[in-house]
Amino acid sequence: MEKNKKFLGIMFECCNVYRRIYINKGGNAYEGRCPKCFGEIKVTIGPDGTDKRIFRAR
Ligand SMILES: [Zn+2]
Repeated sequence: MEKNKKFLGIMFECCNVYRRIYINKGGNAYEGRCPKCFGEIKVTIGPDGTDKRIFRAR
């Protein structure tokens, strides 16, 4: 496994707010929630993952 951090600092594009989201129990994705609109966000870790740091919650 690659050296994964326990959290990911991302910009919630939906509300223009910065926040950390944390790795899930399975260790295969970062999951969090926008503090403003409470939209859920999930960032997959691995070959299909992304280095993006700006996300829009859905
Ligand atoms: Zn939002």
